[in-house]
Amino acid sequence: MPTGWPSPCCRLNDVVSSNSAPERMCIGCRARAPQNDLLRLVLQTEPLRIAVDEDRALPGRGAWIHPQADCLEKAVKKSAFAAAFKQRIPRSAYEDHGKWLQKMDNK
Ligand SMILES: [Zn+2]
Repeated sequence: MPTGWPSPCCRLNDVVSSNSAPERMCIGCRARAPQNDLLRLVLQTEPLRIAVDEDRALPGRGAWIHPQADCLEKAVKKSAFAAAFKQRIPRSAYEDHGKWLQKMDNK
């Protein structure tokens, strides 16, 4: 496990908004929502898989989704992950997405 991650090269600048939390688009229903209301997903490599970033501290490109089965199903059906992470995502990378909801329920 390397110490010190490379600094993210392609992190989007947060939109500066005057008085509210930054908004993100849910990859399921494609509605915008305060990021506090969304679950962050990150793409991990070796093996390639999508993981829930519960603490929002993992490096790399993130995708955001409502913590709802509805949005999750939409994202899976539309292969929204590939668009969100801008690369091909094999189905095996999110085959455990059923567990994501368990994490969501714990919130
Ligand atoms: Zn949604």
